Amino acid sequence: MDLLIRNATLPDGARGIDIAIANGRIAAVGPALPAQAAQEIDAGGDLVTPPFVDAHFHMDATLSHGLPRVNRSGTLLEGIALWGELKPMLTQEALVERALHYCDWAIAHGLLAIRTHVDVCDDRLLAVEALLQVKKQVAPWLNLQLVAFPQDGLLRNPNAFANLKRAIGMGVDVVGGIPHFERTMTEGAESVRLLCEFAAEQGLRVDMHCDETDDPLSRHIETLAYHTQRLGLHGRVAGSHLTSMHSMDNYYVSKLLPLMHEAGVAAIANPLINITLQGRHDSYPKRRGMTRVPELLAAGIDVAFGHDCVMDPWYSLGSGDMLEVAHMGLHVAQMTGQDAMHACFTAVTETPARILGLESYGLKPGCHADMVILDAGNPIEAIRLRAARRYVIRRGRIVSRSPAAQATLDVPGRPGTVDFRHRPAG
Ligand SMILES: [Zn+2]
Repeated sequence: MDLLIRNATLPDGARGIDIAIANGRIAAVGPALPAQAAQEIDAGGDLVTPPFVDAHFHMDATLSHGLPRVNRSGTLLEGIALWGELKPMLTQEALVERALHYCDWAIAHGLLAIRTHVDVCDDRLLAVEALLQVKKQVAPWLNLQLVAFPQDGLLRNPNAFANLKRAIGMGVDVVGGIPHFERTMTEGAESVRLLCEFAAEQGLRVDMHCDETDDPLSRHIETLAYHTQRLGLHGRVAGSHLTSMHSMDNYYVSKLLPLMHEAGVAAIANPLINITLQGRHDSYPKRRGMTRVPELLAAGIDVAFGHDCVMDPWYSLGSGDMLEVAHMGLHVAQMTGQDAMHACFTAVTETPARILGLESYGLKPGCHADMVILDAGNPIEAIRLRAARRYVIRRGRIVSRSPAAQATLDVPGRPGTVDFRHRPAG
C-alpha cells in the first residue's frame, strides 16, 4: 500500500474506519485493516470525506475584484456594467493567472472538482482559450468542467450561438444558456429548445442559468424539463439558480416538481449569491430568492449548492470554501433538522459529483483516492466550523495540509488551549 489512513469517521457516521490506498485508488475500506503502507496518517476519529465539488462557478471573472474598479453599490446591475467595462481589457495571461490562483485556493480547501461557466459572447473567445489551458494544467489536481455560457443571450446576441458552437468544438464540455435574459418569454423558450437539441445531437450535458429572477412567471424550468424528457436527456441536464421558483404560486410548483423529477433534471442553487442579489426590488417583507431546496429534495430531485462567484464584479467575498456555501444554504433554506443538515453537506459533495458525471468518485474500494480529512467529527460539525482541511489527498498523494483550528488562551483558571470542536465525554 502507498498510504493508509487510520481511525477515520465517514460521512455516514461509520467510526474507526481505515482506508488503504494503492496506485491512486482506494484498495480497501474497513475497521482495523491488516495492511501496511509506506505512509500512514492517524485521522484520530476525524471526518474523512470525498472531496468537495462546486457545480456552479465563473472562473473567467474570479479574482478580478477591483478591476477596473469595485462594485460600489453591490447590486447585480452595477456588476453587469462592471463586467462589460472589464471584458475588453481582459488578456489571456491575466485570465490564466487569476484562474490558477483560484485553483490553489480550491485545492487547499479540498475542492477538487469545479464546473465553471465561461462567457462565449466575446467573439475572440479569449476566456475559452484561457480556461481550456487552465483545465489541462490543473488536471492532475483538480477536475475542471467548462460550460459554454452565452451571457448576453443566445438569441439576443447575434453571434452567441455560433460562438457557443465554436467553443464546444474547441473542447468545452457542457452546453449553457440564459433563457430569462432573452428578449421575450417566447425567445427564452426557443433558446432552451435550440440548446437542448444541440446538446442531444452532440451527446453533451446541459446546464443553464435558468429563471435567475424574482418574477414568478419566469417558467423556463418547465420548458427545460419538457425538452429534457422529449429528447431523452435524463440525468444530463441541470437548471442553475431557479430563483423564480421561490416566488411561484404553490399550486403551479406542485405540478412542476413531478415534471422535473420525471425528466431527471437537477437543480443547482447558489445560496451566497441568491441571498444577496435576489429580492432587491422588494421593500419589506423581503424575499430570500433562493429556490425551494427542501421541496425539491422531497420530490426526489438532485439539488447541489454552487459558489457561483468569488471576488468578482458581482460579489466581493468568498474564498472557494464549499463549507461556507453549505453553511449559507442551510440557513437560507432553514434546513436545521438533522437529516436536512446532512443533505446540505451532500449538496457540496456527492450530489454535484453526480451532476458533473464524475467517474470513480467516493470512498468505496476502486474509487479514485481523492479525499479530505477535516478538523471535525461529522458533517454537521464540518459545516458549523467551516472546518480546517487537515489533509487534502488527490490520487493517493497529499496535496495540501492545514493546521487544526486552535487558539492559545491566557485567562487565569482556564485551559491554555481552546479547541472549537465539540467532543462529548465518552
Ligand atoms: Zn452563474
